[in-house]
Amino acid sequence: MMLAYMDRAAAAAEPEDAGEPAAVAAGCAAATDFGGLVSAMPAAVVRPASADDVASAIRAAALTEGLTVAARGNGHSVAGQATAEGGLVLDMRALALSRRPQMQLVGCPGGGGPCFADVPGGALWEEVLHWGVKTHGLAPASWTDYLRLTVGGTLSNGGVSGQSFRFGPQVSNVAELEVVTGDGECRVCSPSSHPDLFFAVLGGLGQFGVITRARIPLRRAPQQVRWARVVYASFAEYTADAEWLVTRPPDAAFDYVEGFAFVNSDDPVNGWPSVPIPGGARFDPALLPAGAGPVLYCLEVALYRYPDDEDKAAAVSRMMAPLKHVRGLEFAADVGYVDFLSRVNRVEEEARRNGSWDAPHPWLNLFVSARDIADFDRAVIKGMLADGIDGPMLVYPMLKSKWDPNTSVALPEGEIFYLVALLRFCRGGGPAVDELVAQNGAILRACRANGYDHKAYFPSYRGEAEWARHFGAARWRRFVERKARYDPLAILAPGQKIFPRAPASVAVQL
Ligand code: FAD
Repeated sequence: MMLAYMDRAAAAAEPEDAGEPAAVAAGCAAATDFGGLVSAMPAAVVRPASADDVASAIRAAALTEGLTVAARGNGHSVAGQATAEGGLVLDMRALALSRRPQMQLVGCPGGGGPCFADVPGGALWEEVLHWGVKTHGLAPASWTDYLRLTVGGTLSNGGVSGQSFRFGPQVSNVAELEVVTGDGECRVCSPSSHPDLFFAVLGGLGQFGVITRARIPLRRAPQQVRWARVVYASFAEYTADAEWLVTRPPDAAFDYVEGFAFVNSDDPVNGWPSVPIPGGARFDPALLPAGAGPVLYCLEVALYRYPDDEDKAAAVSRMMAPLKHVRGLEFAADVGYVDFLSRVNRVEEEARRNGSWDAPHPWLNLFVSARDIADFDRAVIKGMLADGIDGPMLVYPMLKSKWDPNTSVALPEGEIFYLVALLRFCRGGGPAVDELVAQNGAILRACRANGYDHKAYFPSYRGEAEWARHFGAARWRRFVERKARYDPLAILAPGQKIFPRAPASVAVQL
């Protein structure tokens, strides 16, 4: 049985490198990820064509001593989370590409009832967007900044962007999942049917099952977006305005609120040129107040415009009037909705051109409570990172009440917490990757030493003690219980380094 699977993996692998056996090439790609810091060669890459194929691979692994299975979405993790050293990697893109039709509209009765998209776990959010908008004029409410991520990959973590404060993260925007659990059973679950499995899988770091299909609520797609940025010299004013914006009632709220820190210099990557929109607009540093520090902040908002709406420029100006940003440093553009959601593709194109897309990415993502964000800014952003990180330093708030506490995601205590995303792109001549990894470790240690209310997003820990601390006692107990229930042999997602694979002899009891 097992051999048949490995053969199948080899046969199904695309020849990625002439002269190299196809399965080896596929295995090499699956041995690492976007982070480029980890190498863990799998025994085989399986390209499932159906949920049954996923179930068969997991059942076969259960019968083989030490064998593990990792679902790989688009491999955009940064610490080997989708790898399986000596195990099976399930290429979830293959499942998405083999399903015909790939996406299906569900619901939408003539009376204007709720609409959903049934999408494969390996579909890219970009594919969901294009299908929804072009075919039906519909789209999900909650996104990530970059859409070449898979549905199963982001739902296994959280899925956040500027819409999260208002519509909730992606894990709050799912109606139903089809999941193959670690015992090889395929189950359909939702908040009302097998709710424990449904919530376990959401933010579950791939530990409880492989998402083969997700049902995502859809809304009318906007046509255009009024997109605006304003600049702050004061972090206190930046956070006061950002928190005011994310707590406005829905009829007075933007559809998107984000923001980032940048360096007070003309550095093309880290400094003033990273702010202006649209292309060609200029940042005039003479407008900055005297005494502005080494780090500045940019608040970014967007308001959607639907086909019959009037122009949104005046509404955005009105909504931004009370903000305390630096006057004169305001930027705005009208862009199509799909273009707005695809904005990071332009960053990808440039990074591919200059080689930094394929270089290592020692990224660090944190959630830091509003209570401690000013201290964090002083100690970390203005302290350790005042020269920039050769990439975006996102710092923007969201609301805990938009996250369902039953999911597996670990969040800070406070109702308002900030995503802090240190998205480092390594440029030739910059600091060594080891130094950047060490700096990430120092930032995490500073958070702990200073007692900040924080959690790692895309956590990367080793060993039970670290994971128990990450989740906190009660949530860790629930996580362990759910693992025993849905993946008792600890076959799934070994790259997360949470649970060691149990001996195969236990499989007899399955
Ligand atoms: P992978 O990296 O392939 O997998 C991630 C984890 O999920 C692994 O443990 C894997 O085993 C598991 N997994 C994958 N598929 C499944 C499945 N079908 N069922 C069960 N488990 C599965 N995140 C945000 O929240 N917001 C952003 O704005 C954002 N922007 C990003 C921009 C870039 C350029 C990059 C590289 C990443 C960004 N991310 C963002 C992070 C992204 O959400 C994570 O990398 C996430 O893991 C999704 O990537 P992936 O689909 O490639 O999953």
